[in-house]
Amino acid sequence: MIKAITFDLDMTLIDFMNYKRKATSAAASAMIKAGYTGDRKKLKKELFDFYLSHGIESDDPFEKFLKNHKSYSDRILAAAINAYLKSKYPNIKPYPGVKKTLKKLKQKGYKLAIVTDAPKLKAYVRLDEMGIADMFDVVVGLEDTGRHKPSKLPFKKALKALHVKPSEAMHVGDWREKDVLGAKKMGMRSCLAHYGDQHIGRKVWADCYVDKVEDIVKVL
Ligand SMILES: [Mg+2]
Repeated sequence: MIKAITFDLDMTLIDFMNYKRKATSAAASAMIKAGYTGDRKKLKKELFDFYLSHGIESDDPFEKFLKNHKSYSDRILAAAINAYLKSKYPNIKPYPGVKKTLKKLKQKGYKLAIVTDAPKLKAYVRLDEMGIADMFDVVVGLEDTGRHKPSKLPFKKALKALHVKPSEAMHVGDWREKDVLGAKKMGMRSCLAHYGDQHIGRKVWADCYVDKVEDIVKVL
């Protein structure tokens, strides 16, 4: 019997890439307005690609980008940072049905956790902004174990905090090689959040699949 559900965060509860792309695009427009010489459309793509390769959780992608392109100025960087932050917050939104589903699961008595590879503080910033931080009994972030999924360690840490056995827990996530494989290795039930899956690679078959968040309640 399933007593607990662990969730991946990005692309499972939040369309992370959507807000990152929108905010980076706003930063590119602001950079041009502040004096960066270049084509707006090209810059948007270059800046986002650089963000991905430099580290999507990094704090200095615009500074590094400007320096790499010999275009650094405090004026341009400031404009980029402000535009990014202004666009970021209104776009940190959960997928449709997330709040309702989490509430329903809590009412049914399931223990809930987050198991993410994101830095813990950044995960909490996103959870807090979406107004769902208090729904989870525990949040396991990268620093908690220093290991990325599919390592068993982050899952182990969450299950220990929830006081449940692996066979009593289901993990929901969008990334087959991290979330599904990690849950399998741990002996947990695995559920692929199909709507967020954007990785081409080895097919790892999950125990169940959901096309929208609300369906999690049905597969339990
Ligand atoms: Mg994910």
